[in-house]
Amino acid sequence: MKKFFALLIAALLLVTVPASAETQQTGNSDASAEPLNNLIENFYATLPKAKGDYKSRVRPIIVEGAMNTETEVLIKALKNPVAYCEMNYLFVAGTYKDYPVVVVRTEIGLANAAASTALAIKKFNPVAVINQGTSGGHDSALKIGDIVIGEKTIDWVAIKTAYSAAGGLADIIKQENIGTYAYDEASGKFQAYIEYFPDPTLFNIAFKVANTHKEFNAVSGTISTANAWLNNIDYINFLHEKYGSSCEEMETNAVAQICQNAGVPFIGIRVLSDNILHDDRYVPENATICQDFVLLVVEEYIRDVLKK
Ligand code: SAH
Repeated sequence: MKKFFALLIAALLLVTVPASAETQQTGNSDASAEPLNNLIENFYATLPKAKGDYKSRVRPIIVEGAMNTETEVLIKALKNPVAYCEMNYLFVAGTYKDYPVVVVRTEIGLANAAASTALAIKKFNPVAVINQGTSGGHDSALKIGDIVIGEKTIDWVAIKTAYSAAGGLADIIKQENIGTYAYDEASGKFQAYIEYFPDPTLFNIAFKVANTHKEFNAVSGTISTANAWLNNIDYINFLHEKYGSSCEEMETNAVAQICQNAGVPFIGIRVLSDNILHDDRYVPENATICQDFVLLVVEEYIRDVLKK
């Protein structure tokens, strides 16, 4: 009898295991940054707390990442780090290469990225904002670990669709991007921006770093933002073809929008942590590649522009 039950359980496992393995084939369900995030959290808790307001003779560079995994390398690179907390967002101020740098943990998604960036601009009066982190590939020529230097960023769900009657779900691709609203200095009004562009100086410096550090495979491309994670190959290919999208993530466009409002130079730089076009699933550890690259950009920016 015991043997019978053992066989029955084994048979059931055989039926269920492949099914659950199959559901894990797609998307981020099989990888999580959470265990790593938790480890890093303990280290962040040991950072000295800032006393009083931020004071710096020179305007700092702000470097952002959404999660602990996307900020750890940056924060560990800071000399004399002190932690600020505003509305539960973490800001760590210190110096890098003897220059003031503030690392912002924006948290995930557009609203958090916008809010923490606005707070950071108010609090630290930065000379520039670099948003960086992980992303999912929209280009089959890119592999995980590759870096996209944002030549522009779009909000890929800021769309107006064409009319279609019930049953026309596939018509969703009949769409026009309507952009997001940011302040335009020339007209003195908020207007729709379908794309935001990086500060040309920062963009050139990122390329200079890419050309001198061949250990990184960095290309320029379009960073597409939304509070969404796409595993639909057809839709990804559509975004690649219609908008030239190189990768997707959840913060860059919102940060670009706030920097446009404030007139602060901005750039977005992303590493591919996943590319469903190759069934390459989320590798949270790839976040370190982007931070290593961005630190070189920061160093070059300090040397070439800020200290000149
Ligand atoms: N909480 C999750 C990780 C969230 S991943 C976990 O640990 O399991 C979402 C974050 O990674 C966002 O900040 C986004 O910017 C980035 N990201 C990486 N790949 C992405 C993709 N394919 N689509 C959307 N966001 C992606």
